[in-house]
Amino acid sequence: MAVAGGRPGSPGLGGPRSERWKRALAVIPGGVNSPVRAMRAVGLDEPLFIERGEGATITTADGERYLDWVQSWGPLIFGHADPEVVRVIQATAAKGTTFGAATELEVDLAAELVDAVPSIEKVRLVSSGTEAAMSAIRLARGFTRRDRIIKFVGNYHGHADALLVSAGSGLATLGIPSGPGVPSGAVVDTIVVPYNDIVAVADAVARYGEGLAAILCEPVAGNMGVVPPEPGFLEALRQLASACGALLVFDEVITGFRLGRGGAQERYGVIPDLTILGKIVGGGLPLAAFGGRADVMDSLVPAGDIYQAGTLSGNPLATAAGLSVVRRLRDPRIYEELERKGARLEAGLREATAGHPVTLARVGALSTLFFNAGPCRSWDEVATSDTARYGALFRHLLARGIYVAPSQFEATMLSTAHSDADIDRTVEAVAEFMRA
Ligand SMILES: *Cc1c(COP(=O)(O)O)cnc(C)c1O
Repeated sequence: MAVAGGRPGSPGLGGPRSERWKRALAVIPGGVNSPVRAMRAVGLDEPLFIERGEGATITTADGERYLDWVQSWGPLIFGHADPEVVRVIQATAAKGTTFGAATELEVDLAAELVDAVPSIEKVRLVSSGTEAAMSAIRLARGFTRRDRIIKFVGNYHGHADALLVSAGSGLATLGIPSGPGVPSGAVVDTIVVPYNDIVAVADAVARYGEGLAAILCEPVAGNMGVVPPEPGFLEALRQLASACGALLVFDEVITGFRLGRGGAQERYGVIPDLTILGKIVGGGLPLAAFGGRADVMDSLVPAGDIYQAGTLSGNPLATAAGLSVVRRLRDPRIYEELERKGARLEAGLREATAGHPVTLARVGALSTLFFNAGPCRSWDEVATSDTARYGALFRHLLARGIYVAPSQFEATMLSTAHSDADIDRTVEAVAEFMRA
């Protein structure tokens, strides 16, 4: 395998810039179409520009090859350019790429999601996780005729106004906008509480429960690094939501079809009222979904009176790609294999980091190495990680042809395309870093 030995034109902050990067910066804000692609958090000015991907590897525009642990942030459970996905996209595209009208493919994918995900009796297809989360919240509010929602610090649900909220630690806090452009009016009904803090949730429900439309959470947090739910946490959310008449909404955009065919809800045995899906369900194309109880879903126009729509919703290419992926995920051996490989990665990393102040979190094919002695149960706890040390690890791995998330607060995405040799090579490179 051709391994990159440092990256031409991509030194640390303040170094010379490649022509490509200068062009990008001139015409795209910050040079990237989504901020997570920038690499400033790991001390690099210039991000990777990817030209192609194959299985577990990506190749940059400069012809450097990397072992890829990001996998487009989660969608690619079978790795890059999976031949079956490519074939169905090509075959479907030849028949027309969008109709803005009903197709049988959409029914097929919806039926597959209903069959796979315990909470989903009916489902709508949309184009992004952000759109699915925004729609699920509107639906929960419309169905309950209530406005307030509870969300957790460090959980991410896309960038809809009402969900872009940060708050300090401690007990329940009313939402304050996380940045300019989010009007305070859009978040006054968002109540923010620490993850894994049942007492804080109970307190918030006691104070605001009467007007509470939904409790929204990532059942395994993946956007502050991987933070599993503490035993009893999801069960408590289920009870508290039911007791006050709010809907429990699981954002399974990362965990759906990754932690098992039925997602985290199947793994932990806690069934929400609504579920948000994205990433894997689109097979690498722009597709997401929200679904749940039939009585709630039937409140959507035209069955009911809550509005939600989309020109490209259930787009044939995305639907065909998603269907090809989720149908193959009926085979339980895929999840057994991901679990085995996840355990191999975890065992290797535990040995490589033994005696160092790190915490390794893993659930199935999702993991994060925190530079922090732990425990890592909430945003306040993970936020004490040594992000400079993580940045040094990122650069160490990159120089050895291994690409991990350019931020401490993300998850490593294992795919079926990662081999045992890929895992062992990564573990060895981490061990080398820890010894240095
Ligand atoms: C990625 C993500 C989203 C947003 O999905 P987009 O397709 O990027 O809009 C929402 N929720 C979770 C948990 C995610 O990881």
